[in-house]
Amino acid sequence: MKIYFITGSQFLYGEETLKQVERDSIKMVDYINAKIDRVEIVYKGMVKTEREATKFVKEVNYEDECVGMMVWCHTFSPAKMWINGMKSLQKPMLHLHTQFNRELPYDEIDMDFMNLNQSAHGDREFAYVLTRLGVPRVSVAGYYQDEDVIKEISEWADVAVAVDYSKKLKVCRFGDNMREVAVTDGDKVEAQIKLGWQVDYYGIGDIVAEINKVTEEETEALYNEIISLYTLKTDDVASVKEQVKYEIALKRFLAKNDYTALTTNFQDLHGLKQLFGMSIQRLMAEGYGFGAEGDWKISALSAIFKKMAEGRKGVTCFMEDYTYDLVKGKELVLGSHMLEVCPTVASTKPTIEVHPLGIGDREPPARLVFDGTEGDGIAVCMVDMGDRFRLICAEIELVKQPKPMPKLPVARIMWKLKPDFKSGAKAWLEAGGAHHTVVSTALTAKDMELFAKLNGLEFVHIK
Ligand code: MN
Repeated sequence: MKIYFITGSQFLYGEETLKQVERDSIKMVDYINAKIDRVEIVYKGMVKTEREATKFVKEVNYEDECVGMMVWCHTFSPAKMWINGMKSLQKPMLHLHTQFNRELPYDEIDMDFMNLNQSAHGDREFAYVLTRLGVPRVSVAGYYQDEDVIKEISEWADVAVAVDYSKKLKVCRFGDNMREVAVTDGDKVEAQIKLGWQVDYYGIGDIVAEINKVTEEETEALYNEIISLYTLKTDDVASVKEQVKYEIALKRFLAKNDYTALTTNFQDLHGLKQLFGMSIQRLMAEGYGFGAEGDWKISALSAIFKKMAEGRKGVTCFMEDYTYDLVKGKELVLGSHMLEVCPTVASTKPTIEVHPLGIGDREPPARLVFDGTEGDGIAVCMVDMGDRFRLICAEIELVKQPKPMPKLPVARIMWKLKPDFKSGAKAWLEAGGAHHTVVSTALTAKDMELFAKLNGLEFVHIK
């Protein structure tokens, strides 16, 4: 993944100055590159004419390897030359407002120095055109070697990578949405237009056929690997192996068709002995997106946000607001699902358990059970408002569950709403927020706001 770095300048100050602009730009890009792992920043050149600006923007748009563009104006740089190019920009943009020198050389400064180091002037001219054109971007101001500046560039790069991933994302749906449910439904054509998602339906028979092809040897091999990772807390080995078969089949089916996100629906299980439980949990831990009850929106978002969070500290997972502890002043949400909770959020070693499940009318499914992690985080969903998508992001604090829950046969996490239960819950309800979310302790509301801006989504922030 690459970011193209382009420096704004002009001919006014002569050849020598332009050579200096180029040398300084290369040094700056080398410095930033050494500090950022996620992407490679490639210095593409200087812009001095309309033709050059338009050519660079075309390359940013066209090249698959390029996920975004950074611009800095070393000297003054008349910005009409950017208008034609920037009108067509289709990738995330970062405007780096910095300077090659940190300190002003008070004893030495003359007109040549001032003309060369003129981003205070040139970047304002450039930014005016961006604002006038309505180009969504992140503006980062400060000395380029400062940690906060590097951090802001790095966070933007994570979102740029996620936007690129979103544009190529394919979601596989086994079955449709759960009958009668409103919030998990929505306009898939509009989602593809806005976010790039290809959302495809398959009948459950297609995955059952794949499951039937899995051999005993394959199942045995993966089973042995799995029981070395978790604590086996059941005698029902056959049920666990059934999930192992599902995992092999799901991964094979998804890989064959380039899907990295999926949905299932417990109302559509024809030919299956169990609901998908541990199999889905282990797929989620590998980075696959997942949405239960046919929820393709949250499946796509969980895949994208996991991608965005790669390399950061913290966890990112599909979640459902399930039930509350309403002790006055200490209100907590218990987040879980009937089986599918991502084991990356575990604070205890997961146990493999087999328990009956009233829903779905199938044999007891194997699942991973554990307590959840702690820390500051966000809960995010996307709802279809009919004429637009709304991304809702609530700040939350994940907490240790106050007491053990020995009879709860599923994994769970708990959190506090912000600013408090009453206001946080009310705001979520009135914004039309869903019960399925992505919970993350790796991503922030700032990441979500940028993701919304870059994809033309309405953004609601509850804090
Ligand atoms: Mn659900």
